[in-house]
Amino acid sequence: MNQQTDVMEKIVALCRRRGFIFGSSEIYGGIGGFWDYGPLGCELKRNIKDAWWYDNVRNPPLGPNGREFQMVGVDCSIIMNPKVWEASGHVGGFKDPMVTCKAEGCKGLFRADQLNSSPCPLKPSKMAGESEKCALTEPRAFNLMFETHTGALQDSSSKVYLRPETAQGIFANFPNVMSSTRVKIPFGIAQIGKAFRNEINPRNYTFRSREFEQMEIEFFCKPEESMEWYEFWRNARIKWYESLGIKSDKLRPRQQGKEELAHYSKACTDIEYLFPFSDEPQELEGVAHRGSFDLNQHGKHSRGDENAFAVIDEDTPTVAGEKKGKYVPHVIEPSAGADRFTLAVICEAYSYDESRASPEFMKFHPRLAPIKAAVFPLVAKDGMPEIGEPIYREIKKHFPCQYDAKQSIGKRYARMDEAGTPFCFTIDGQTKEDGTVTVRNRDDASQIRIDKTRCLEYLRDQLGL
Ligand code: ATP
Repeated sequence: MNQQTDVMEKIVALCRRRGFIFGSSEIYGGIGGFWDYGPLGCELKRNIKDAWWYDNVRNPPLGPNGREFQMVGVDCSIIMNPKVWEASGHVGGFKDPMVTCKAEGCKGLFRADQLNSSPCPLKPSKMAGESEKCALTEPRAFNLMFETHTGALQDSSSKVYLRPETAQGIFANFPNVMSSTRVKIPFGIAQIGKAFRNEINPRNYTFRSREFEQMEIEFFCKPEESMEWYEFWRNARIKWYESLGIKSDKLRPRQQGKEELAHYSKACTDIEYLFPFSDEPQELEGVAHRGSFDLNQHGKHSRGDENAFAVIDEDTPTVAGEKKGKYVPHVIEPSAGADRFTLAVICEAYSYDESRASPEFMKFHPRLAPIKAAVFPLVAKDGMPEIGEPIYREIKKHFPCQYDAKQSIGKRYARMDEAGTPFCFTIDGQTKEDGTVTVRNRDDASQIRIDKTRCLEYLRDQLGL
């Protein structure tokens, strides 16, 4: 086993043991490509989504040359009129090439373009197609959209899809947002929500799942300013990951080559992260210049006019008697995966130090840590709980905090280390004498003493929140 695989196995075991991530419906043997977040994982993912929403929608960065712009949010339905997916091209083109193996006892299904990283089910030391027993079929196109039906009749007229991306809900609502708000180009619409893809080979833990959450922005701008906005979003998104503790040497912006780009796209950068399960960085987010393709398509399919969603060019000089010019906005799309980023945050936080009593600890960025502090009376007697409980209740009003009076103090610190809790406050014998408590720091296990009345203030200062 190489070192990296070993690290990944340790991460998966810790996530299961401590309630970050469980396999979906595990008591029935699980189901491939679906995952549940436990108590710690769901807080972590919520913090990630909140940070994304706050930093991009409520308080977005300034644009090129310090320019301010507006961002608004939507929360659209998962099932939409199937015409949306015809217009977007998903019904015709959202397909991966699939091959099956006809070897006796195998029946493996693989993505034809990922054979060199798909282990053979019969001989996992080799990749699919490598052993002489493998009998792979020719690739055939497999549509990744999950189908279901609305209403009682299950025929082709009631067929609908679970959305494979959140983006189309934003495009379909572009005219509604324009008419119901006072947004002006350039502006963005953001959405966080579930998406579903019937991936042929879900794998690498939650990295490639069949149900996942996306955090997407569609940013509408003037065609002639679009490359500037593309560069802006690409850089802003990289900075965002760095601001949450992702080290820049593990992040890689990869500009797609011309041959990889969709026919309508002028440029696309994948922001990639070096996960422990792979030697090559893998996509966390795509920042794509989509031109006016989506608005043109929805204009054509819904109103019979590809320019139906054109906006007035407020910058055209007003000439008496002449109408202002119009244009269909261009779109820059930063599209991130909430689950992929949660996994990256977990991998980045995972730390192992043999010299510590509890070697495994999660070094989460303070903003993302599921629990920010814990309060421990050293023993559940001698007046210590009476001092600890009010401290806990005070902190709890402001930050997620836990109180625990059972087990040895070492075990309690170890549990908090694995949960990634930045600080623990311990009430001990000295507290009654001089009113101080011990503060233990997760990252270096160091301890200092502060006055018991200063716990919340200390936490605020240290977390910077
Ligand atoms: P990939 O090439 O890895 O399949 P993609 O290019 O198809 O990804 P997009 O369609 O650009 O992905 O989706 C935007 C984001 O949604 C991705 O960057 C990723 O974070 C997330 N995402 C896409 N597919 C999955 C999946 N199967 N499981 C988890 N997250 C996903």
